[in-house]
Amino acid sequence: MPSNMMEWGFVVVFFLLPGTIGAYVAYTKGRNPLLWFLLNALFAPTVMITLFQRPQRPVQGHYRQCPKCSEFSKWRENSCRFCGTALS
Ligand SMILES: [Zn+2]
Repeated sequence: MPSNMMEWGFVVVFFLLPGTIGAYVAYTKGRNPLLWFLLNALFAPTVMITLFQRPQRPVQGHYRQCPKCSEFSKWRENSCRFCGTALS
């Protein structure tokens, strides 16, 4: 276990921070936050995978799925960024 502030800082920056970011991003993409927390906490570069992977399913407030081409767009966008179909 960490014994002083600097060691705690190290743990937070290199494990808890990427883990937390990864868990949140995974949640917004309809993926398992716990799984991605562990993966990103243990191996920080996997945060990049979390950031760039496709959403698994639409998540209210984060991603919509296009009914026509089934690609995902940001929740705030009104039309599909791939085929231009209006999203409701
Ligand atoms: Zn589309």
